[in-house]
Amino acid sequence: MPRLADDFVAFVRPLLGSVEPVPLHAPQFAGREKDYVLEAINSTFVSSVGGFVDRFEAAVAQYTGARHAVATVNGTAALHTALMLVGTAPGDEVITQPVTFVATANAIRYCGAEPVFVDVERETLGLSPEKLERFLRAHATPGGGGCVNKTTGRTLRACVPVHTLGHPARTGALREICDRFGLALVEDAAEALGSFRDGCHTGRSGQVGIFSFNGNKTITTGGGGMLVTNDPSLAERAKHLTTTGKLPHPWAYVHDVVGYNYRMPNLNAALGCAQLERLPAILQSKRRLATAYARFFEGKGVTLLREPPNCRSNYWLNAVILRDEQQRDDFLRRTHDGGVRTRPLWEPLHRLSMFRQCQADDLEEATWICQRLVTIPSGVKWSGEETR
Ligand SMILES: *Cc1c(COP(=O)(O)O)cnc(C)c1O
Repeated sequence: MPRLADDFVAFVRPLLGSVEPVPLHAPQFAGREKDYVLEAINSTFVSSVGGFVDRFEAAVAQYTGARHAVATVNGTAALHTALMLVGTAPGDEVITQPVTFVATANAIRYCGAEPVFVDVERETLGLSPEKLERFLRAHATPGGGGCVNKTTGRTLRACVPVHTLGHPARTGALREICDRFGLALVEDAAEALGSFRDGCHTGRSGQVGIFSFNGNKTITTGGGGMLVTNDPSLAERAKHLTTTGKLPHPWAYVHDVVGYNYRMPNLNAALGCAQLERLPAILQSKRRLATAYARFFEGKGVTLLREPPNCRSNYWLNAVILRDEQQRDDFLRRTHDGGVRTRPLWEPLHRLSMFRQCQADDLEEATWICQRLVTIPSGVKWSGEETR
């Protein structure tokens, strides 16, 4: 193992080593970012009003194939809004996976609802349709216009699978199960802009999908998020909720709901418009890096995560699965010592103090994966690539 970590450091440093230490991910501004941001500044429309927000929403809708897109201050706000849109109310339950960033479960709690953790698949790192079906057969009973958890007596409102590390979860199968049991499907595609399953962009299989444009994601607006939906009434309500619930009027401030200040500022949207123009080049670069990693790890006894069958992943973060926890920790330590940033996957959410009491299934695969997976540097800027 020391050997593998040292070989890896020697491989990565010349490839991605323009910054010290080699970061896990870094944004790249090689397009018209400065022009657009300057344009926003010169227009004085830097905040909640301005043309770049509309432009960015239209561009994301077009790219993903969704009918409507609503920009938000960040991905967490988009997720919170999405859950409100599908009617998540205090005392409800929302099924999600424990293998995700903490924001997924936090957004459920913002609604006053309780997360329920169902296991993931080893191949996609996404919520397992088989485990979901098994959980619902064991615990769900029809009621309340959808289904009720027999064990807790609470309404099961929605299901939130995650396209982990940019690999598409099996949302078609999940949608079929959710429809049968009366659950809404909200896709956490925060990490998955540019990822497709069966030619369909992630975030489009459920009632609502969300993306993040945080600084470490595939493209960034500094901070930002986006909600996509095909339902015009949900889109309209999303816009209303994220803009403090203000009724349209030339001058009067009248609000008809306790809304949120979740609107993406125009300044951030300007950055997003420029980043989105570069998305195809960024995806191509990340793909080439994944191929280079695949060649490096071949025959070395570790598994590099590849895109699932019939999918096109954005390869947001490349990841390897090591033999056991000890090998993982050793790899993490030696790569850090060698100036290469690598990270374990998130501490599974059911083990965090805030979510330890939540109902869960066996979570066998989640536990197995979280003990072994390491994410490796996956920035766009690498020596195999022209930077224009
Ligand atoms: C990044 C991320 C979020 C939250 O997005 P922010 O823009 O950081 O609020 C939510 N879920 C997942 C899976 C993420 O990776």
